[in-house]
Amino acid sequence: MRVTGTVQGVGFRPFVYRLASELGLTGWVLNDERGVAIEAEGAPDAVAALLARVAREAPPLARVEDVAAEEVEPRGDATFEIVASDTSGEAATPVAADCATCEACLAELRDPADRRYRYPFVNCTDCGPRFTIVTGVPYDRARTTMAGFEMCDACRAEYEDPADRRFHAEPNACPACGPRVRLLDADGSESVSEASGAAEGLPPDAVGAAAAALLGGAIVAVKGLGGYHLACRADDEEAVARLRSRKHREEKPFALMVAGLEQARELAEIGPAEEELLSGPRGQIVLARRRAGAALAAAVAPGRRELGLLLPYSPLHHLLAGDCGVPLVLTSGNVSEEPIAYRDEDALRRLAPIANLFLVHDRPIRTRTDDSVVRAIELGGAAAPLPLRRSRGYVPESAPLPLAAARPLLACGAELKSTFCLAKDGRAWVGHHIGDLESFETLRSFHEGIDHLQHLFAVAPELVVHDLHPDYLSTAYALKREGVETVAVQHHHAHLASCLAEHGETGPALGAIFDGTGYGIDGTVWGGELLAGDLRGFERAGSLLPVAMPGGAAAIREPWRMACAWVAAVDATGGESPPAALVDRVGGRAWRNCRELIATGTGSPATTSMGRLFDAVGALCAAAARVSYEGQAAVELEALADRAETGRYELDLVEEAGAPLRLDPRPVLGEILADLGAGVAPALVSARFHAAVAHATAEACATLASRRDLGTVVLSGGVFQNALLLERTAALLSGAGLRTLVPRLLPPNDGGISYGQAAIAAARCWEGLAKPPC
Ligand SMILES: [Zn+2]
Ligand SMILES: [Zn+2]
Repeated sequence: MRVTGTVQGVGFRPFVYRLASELGLTGWVLNDERGVAIEAEGAPDAVAALLARVAREAPPLARVEDVAAEEVEPRGDATFEIVASDTSGEAATPVAADCATCEACLAELRDPADRRYRYPFVNCTDCGPRFTIVTGVPYDRARTTMAGFEMCDACRAEYEDPADRRFHAEPNACPACGPRVRLLDADGSESVSEASGAAEGLPPDAVGAAAAALLGGAIVAVKGLGGYHLACRADDEEAVARLRSRKHREEKPFALMVAGLEQARELAEIGPAEEELLSGPRGQIVLARRRAGAALAAAVAPGRRELGLLLPYSPLHHLLAGDCGVPLVLTSGNVSEEPIAYRDEDALRRLAPIANLFLVHDRPIRTRTDDSVVRAIELGGAAAPLPLRRSRGYVPESAPLPLAAARPLLACGAELKSTFCLAKDGRAWVGHHIGDLESFETLRSFHEGIDHLQHLFAVAPELVVHDLHPDYLSTAYALKREGVETVAVQHHHAHLASCLAEHGETGPALGAIFDGTGYGIDGTVWGGELLAGDLRGFERAGSLLPVAMPGGAAAIREPWRMACAWVAAVDATGGESPPAALVDRVGGRAWRNCRELIATGTGSPATTSMGRLFDAVGALCAAAARVSYEGQAAVELEALADRAETGRYELDLVEEAGAPLRLDPRPVLGEILADLGAGVAPALVSARFHAAVAHATAEACATLASRRDLGTVVLSGGVFQNALLLERTAALLSGAGLRTLVPRLLPPNDGGISYGQAAIAAARCWEGLAKPPC
């Protein structure tokens, strides 16, 4: 039998060994460059049972893609054995993603009689760090950041026993031989007494002392699997406010770590979908609807209907959450806008002005890997996960390519929420979340990440794919690579391709691709696009009506400018005047200056961005002038919407011969201005606006699809992180008899761009067209 997929470094061989032994089979199992090979001999029904169960009962970290079997001559082996690896070739998937602590390890962690009682680094082949500690290939202890820790006799015996849960668990460790946790003062000295926890009735160790400090209102930097976090009590108004001001993070919500599902339910509505996402092995942040009266500081998630919740994902976090007994803020260890700290010296230096104490350890983090974020949405009456950030717990799992890459390639992604993607043959590996490619530090981790993954997966790119935008740092990087051919891909085409490819499809399809901004093939700013296309190319079948983006990028931070632009567009058709509340907030002079920019076109490029339209309506509804992070007004607009409202506004669909279809929202803006002027609740206005966009999108897609004889519609782009919009639009499309694809593996936002670029480049070289006309 040949088993392929993520089957190495996940306890697959001992699992096969145990299963074969239980079934009374003889033979062998080994790892080779293609995955796992098994030869089994015995009664036919026992062999059949092995074949049936090997995928079904695979260990939790394994991702079995295929099991192939053929009959061979019996050899008469007396035993079943694990044979040494054949390391002549390179492994297809050499290392798994980091995995949340398993139940068996948790039981040991909590058992006072166990030798790993309260040991913050307990792990086994079913759980623990993987990608964040791997330094090279093949994956073994010498090529992880555990290389410096020599196993004691007891750990070594487990590691070498095929029947043991820790057989070849590379990060295996115990208190006698493994990493240690320490609690440091902000100046890096170990003056903190570990007994201080005991004074509060907590365990007399570093974690107990950290918990005592947290309960007393301290901010503690905690070294996790993929980087440092900052923690404080989530119900302590003063501590949360202090953390916000020291991090210079004005309004972006903080994630919360709860000790378990019970605590999660006290804060938020946890349905079966949220429960599964929270308690699964990926250890990710799950957005869930906040409960009225949840005992939390107001500053945790201002203006949000949802909370980002996380269960403890490492033994250290389990101990800390258990000792504290209250929900903790657990947010990235950085000053706003910077990447999360992960190297000890750097963390101590950068976080010392923020944290009172540091809970650190001596197992290095090889690759900074942020928390992944997901929300559950409802599609076709069933819950589905919508990934918002794909990083720790997912990377470096591969994603399939529907058309194999004939030449190894690297796709460099976009600029915000940057990721990169390597591809070879039928597989693509999307790297960890890098962040916004705007600083030296993120650019450095982009370069380093590419080098590291090229090495791990033995991919030497011959093709390098980049966005059409000439000013992206990722584009500059691609054009500077020597000895490669480069391919440019349009931004929204990459969004369309990403969603098609993850569903194993090549198209053609009709895509409604709504996001903030992307460089169009005509050099203008796109972002509300209806594209008809496949993996190789596309046609712009429709778009949002273009308006001015007054002041260019300034309009992203100041969504009132977009409100001004849309009000101006309505005024030009004899519509309403803006609500006095927003003009008052902004100031009459600033508003008039903005109108002047729009009238003259000075520094105000035209945009078809749907994200900016949501910003404009968000600014109008909340009378908010400025935001502290991109898309905040749009996020708050969604949170505001009254789900029970059934009324809606009406967008115009305008068609002129030879021109793309236009979604014209001016009538909607006119109604919004009139309703807000008449005192209609913003919650109703928001709901009617969402419904208007959903209906117009579905109608436009149905019209354009039927004209082209397309049966499939793709919904993607960052605007579709909005669950209300996504669910409504998908339901309307399904109602119209169209198959609707939405992102499930890769985020709808720019985190999915690199994978889409890879799918497009692979499809083009498959056709022998490395550089077709766009
Ligand atoms: Zn375990
Ligand atoms: Zn040990």
